[in-house]
Amino acid sequence: MDSLDDAEELAAVAVSLRRHLERHQRAGIGAVGRAVVSKTNGVAARGSGSPLAGAENDLFVDVNPVSETGSLEGLRAAIGDCRRCKLCAGRTNLVFGVGNPNARLMFVGEGPGRDEDLQGEPFVGRAGQLLTDIITKGMGLRREDVYIANVVKCRPPENRNPEPDEVAACEPFLKKQIELIHPEIIVGLGKFAVQTLLQSKMPITKLRGQWHSYHGIKLMPTFHPAYLLRNPGDKKLVWEDIKKVIEALGA
Ligand code: SF4
Repeated sequence: MDSLDDAEELAAVAVSLRRHLERHQRAGIGAVGRAVVSKTNGVAARGSGSPLAGAENDLFVDVNPVSETGSLEGLRAAIGDCRRCKLCAGRTNLVFGVGNPNARLMFVGEGPGRDEDLQGEPFVGRAGQLLTDIITKGMGLRREDVYIANVVKCRPPENRNPEPDEVAACEPFLKKQIELIHPEIIVGLGKFAVQTLLQSKMPITKLRGQWHSYHGIKLMPTFHPAYLLRNPGDKKLVWEDIKKVIEALGA
């Protein structure tokens, strides 16, 4: 191939990548960082501040803003007005998560319910009040001391369980939240969250009350507060699980 062909091919690649970047931006993914090559002369450039600035070695690098970000704010911005799964169609608010970004303790639930969807905050309905009581009255902490998030960030219709494709689309956001917060302990709330975190099909009745590991982080599965509202007799089991968490945090 002669140099003219090289230049034409490079220009075509640049146009293709520019369109790709523009699609990212239209999708609300945000700045994609390093990339691409000068459209006009095919010469790599870096440091112009333009999202189209980049280096030759970056030419075919598709930077993932979710995995690249170093902060919860950056992660939230990267998620944007997410349309990566069908749950986006029914949501009022995307429920990202709330709490201390440096929390030692993180709670992970299944997904937003009606109240959470309306308010944009996890665990704010009746089940949320019960979780707040566990945190404040049971553990002697403030809600803002811990971090609270869900496996999926948008409300499933009629509060059904999230479907596998929805979990697959949304799980990277939870993984990144956990990576950024890096808590000492995760409390998994309910069958769905625990089975997702542990990649297990075991029933919550078998998993709860025992320490597990989520990529080296201590994980305590327990019942979901919504289950406790329907089965208040099992509150004592949750209290047994929470006492183990309190003990571990004290240590
Ligand atoms: S559930 Fe997650 S992947 Fe699906 S639209 Fe909401 S934020 Fe995006």
